[in-house]
Amino acid sequence: MGDLVRIDGARGEGGGQILRTALALSAITGRPLELENIRAKRAKPGLMRQHLTALRAAAEISGAEVSGARIGATSIGFRPGPVRAGDYHFAVGTAGSATLVAQTVLPALLGATAPSRLVLEGGTHNPASPPFEFLARAFLPLLRRMGAEVDARLVHRGFYPAGGGRFELDVRPPARLAPLRLLDRGAPAAHEAEAVIAHLPDGIAARELEVVAERLGWPEARRTVVRDTTTPGPGNVLLLTLAFEAVSDVVTGFGMKGIGAESLASKAATQAERYLASPAAVGVHLADQLLLPMALGGAGAFTTLRPSRHTRTNIEVIQRFLEIPIRLEEVGRDLWQIEIGG
Ligand code: ATP
Repeated sequence: MGDLVRIDGARGEGGGQILRTALALSAITGRPLELENIRAKRAKPGLMRQHLTALRAAAEISGAEVSGARIGATSIGFRPGPVRAGDYHFAVGTAGSATLVAQTVLPALLGATAPSRLVLEGGTHNPASPPFEFLARAFLPLLRRMGAEVDARLVHRGFYPAGGGRFELDVRPPARLAPLRLLDRGAPAAHEAEAVIAHLPDGIAARELEVVAERLGWPEARRTVVRDTTTPGPGNVLLLTLAFEAVSDVVTGFGMKGIGAESLASKAATQAERYLASPAAVGVHLADQLLLPMALGGAGAFTTLRPSRHTRTNIEVIQRFLEIPIRLEEVGRDLWQIEIGG
């Protein structure tokens, strides 16, 4: 067992990502973790249901001894054993994000010597979290290029507050994650907009797609209303898939009470325009999520938009566990290059 790593969760972004990255790296390196001031910069600090599920999931795959595993806890201790591949079922129990639970355990299971199968339940389309399609279309294809075969299937969507979402991941780890250099996005492929609507008037989705048509000029064949009648609660998301030869990004507008369809769609269009206007390969959210697999592969590089606080904080956490240089360089207007290792 390596040296203990103590992390102050109030640093930088001060949110749940510090916990997830630290748990993943503790399990991977075998170094015990003490984390305090968990989510100190959030309105309700401490572990929420999603974070507690992530903690328990990380403990299950690594046989870890855990202290502080309760809702509201602001410090935890985590002593992992070796990571074990297997069939796992992790249920958040509320509409908390199940994709973020997957984000916690996936890097560690990629280092295991056998395949794993995961069933995840909870929210699949939560504000401020990767929606399922982001995982399936933006994140996992890049892991595949690094040698990791991960297949994702959406069984049911889960929206806040009713939850009830479920998806499955088949994880076939590579012998070693291969370095990936992602400097150019390549030629554009077919972009598409989907307005997903569940137990709400169809007109909401139609209004969102109208804004997409006006702002982005995408033709009707590329704008689809997706009616979900199987999810338990009401819900609405607008998904804009920006597809390129080498990489795709998925920009999401999350429907919430009090936010008009036009305003949600217009915000999403602005984010899409920002990505489309830049030659960067990697969008803002993908950037912070790509750092850990690239660091585990020992090397990598990508161009991206101006790095977020999530990205900067994730770099700090990664470097507490791994001795790997990560350099950020501004190379143009809203264009940065991140070099990992080397
Ligand atoms: P909290 O902020 O309440 O602590 P949290 O645990 O949800 O909560 P954050 O630390 O904010 O976590 O991390 C959120 C993660 O979700 C980041 O990796 C971020 O890139 C990702 N994310 C947020 N919004 C999107 C989105 N629209 N598409 C893809 N990924 C997203």
